[in-house]
Amino acid sequence: MAKNNSNKTTEICSFCGRPAHEAGLLLAGLNGFICHDCAGRAMEIFDEALPKNNRKQGGGIELGKLPKPQDIKEYLDQYVIGQDNAKKHLAVAVYNHYKRLLQSKDDNDVEIEKSNIIMVGSTGTGKTLLARTIAKLLKVPFTIVDATVLTEAGYVGEDVESILSRLLQVADYNVEEAEKGIVFIDEIDKIARKSDNPSITRDVSGEGVQQGLLKLLEGSKVNVPPQGGRKHPEQKFIEVDTRNILFICGGAFDGIEKKIAQRLNTNVVGFNAASSSAVIDRRDIMQYIAPQDLKSFGLIPEIIGRLPVLTYLKPLDRAALRKILTEPKNSIIKQYVKLFEMDGIKLVFEPAVLEYIVDKAVEFRLGARGLRSIVEAIMMETMYSLPSGKEKEFVVTLDYAKSQMDKANIAQLQNAV
Ligand code: ADP
Repeated sequence: MAKNNSNKTTEICSFCGRPAHEAGLLLAGLNGFICHDCAGRAMEIFDEALPKNNRKQGGGIELGKLPKPQDIKEYLDQYVIGQDNAKKHLAVAVYNHYKRLLQSKDDNDVEIEKSNIIMVGSTGTGKTLLARTIAKLLKVPFTIVDATVLTEAGYVGEDVESILSRLLQVADYNVEEAEKGIVFIDEIDKIARKSDNPSITRDVSGEGVQQGLLKLLEGSKVNVPPQGGRKHPEQKFIEVDTRNILFICGGAFDGIEKKIAQRLNTNVVGFNAASSSAVIDRRDIMQYIAPQDLKSFGLIPEIIGRLPVLTYLKPLDRAALRKILTEPKNSIIKQYVKLFEMDGIKLVFEPAVLEYIVDKAVEFRLGARGLRSIVEAIMMETMYSLPSGKEKEFVVTLDYAKSQMDKANIAQLQNAV
């Protein structure tokens, strides 16, 4: 199709008349060619000439071609074990986000408001994994930021606007694209109010940051330093409208179960006490989480109001850890098998070894994050010696796993998580 053969003088750009050896790559049409420069100019002319609502809304997103919420969940299922509640909420939120983007700006019809999400669940239950996995499917710019680095403007740390700088970077500084993006704010619990009395000490990384964040969540025009941070005061600010940006927040909210339990207990004192206490499942208190628990934890009500979808992730039990080891598309065990396969070695784990790994993760309270460090400890020696040997198969037996674990430094394992 495309030619840049300078010998063929007949192939000229049908728009500017330059031959291929001057214009470079020529794109062939039915009866002619177009060069890179003319194609670029044509694009500019179209952009200016076409009325806005004639252009495709949502930057090329077409609802018919998008994965439906069920498809999104099925995709997530391949990588993330369990956590159905959070998966469904995420899938619906992303799908609705596209719908909002597709709604014509001049439409006087019903305006679809965005539904930012907050996911609550202990560390290592899959919040970030969910965000990273869904990112692969997204047709809009996406970034993950960590709330722990944010401080109130004027203090050491990053201003909340830096969140938008990241999004701009991902969108190649295309503001229009960035304004349709999705931001995952991790560790949102770390900016909870530290005490009920903020006047004693300045709470520069708590309520102040929440107030700053509120501005973004509410949807406003924010001046963003292009590179983030305040290192280059001479840099011009870029104005970003956050009205259409979807925010997904995640946090462990350590100890929130107590607040939930307290609330449930107080509720039980009411006149319908018998009926409500009967249904409470004490093993999984998190499922009863409600916005007021986030408030008791130290999020300001205005922020909670801007995160209308509240979902939770379950703590991972033994069965879930066992599945995480082998079932996800890029599960830890599959990754090690692949590593050895590249050396032409077949790696096999005895089923008892897998149970042993899970036992150790539970024993050391390492959760899912610990699985990898444990497998790494078991496989270290083998990964060192096998590539230089002649063996074509290696079976990891329970005895071998135990002997390697005995050699491993448990404290180091725990720190690695
Ligand atoms: P969080 O953000 O909730 O603290 P992560 O998503 O960072 O936890 O999880 C840490 C690691 O543990 C992941 O990279 C993944 O390997 C594993 N993991 C955690 N939860 C799950 C899950 N539900 N399914 C599969 N793997 C998981």
